[in-house]
Amino acid sequence: MRDENCIFCKIMAGEIPSRTLFEDDDFKVIMDVGPAAKGHSLIVPKQHYADIYELPSELAGEAMKLAKRMATHMTTVLNCDGFNIMQNNGEVAGQTVFHYHLHLVPRYKDAAPILTWTQNHFSDEEMDELAEKLSVK
Ligand code: 5GP
Ligand code: ZN
Repeated sequence: MRDENCIFCKIMAGEIPSRTLFEDDDFKVIMDVGPAAKGHSLIVPKQHYADIYELPSELAGEAMKLAKRMATHMTTVLNCDGFNIMQNNGEVAGQTVFHYHLHLVPRYKDAAPILTWTQNHFSDEEMDELAEKLSVK
């Protein structure tokens, strides 16, 4: 599966260069061109799936296994102090490239924050309603 207008499909096909850290039949791990921190890289499936909703469950599992392997390796090599694994779905969630990818972001003590949000407050009643609605039966 490929989308002719997708930059990551072109990178996966080798038509646009990337710094590739790992490759197998299903994935490439490439360095992000606009890194949030030193070493920020992306796990990208070779086939085009726009987001988590399109990604087959089996590949989702394989992507997370690869994330564990890469995070472990990168932490050793970079000697970073922590690690974020992130994934955006939809423009409102910050997705800018609509070909599924997992962000691997090494974190360093004293570096600028990259993830912040303001905590919301919902009433106990609203929280109970939400819990009921969101429960997987
Ligand atoms: P998103 O915002 O969709 O979660 O993340 C897209 C990421 O892809 C961004 O961090 C951005 O810097 C990165 N990116 C965009 N275009 C390219 C590219 O051509 N090559 C590489 N290696 N990364 C890219
Ligand atoms: Zn694509």
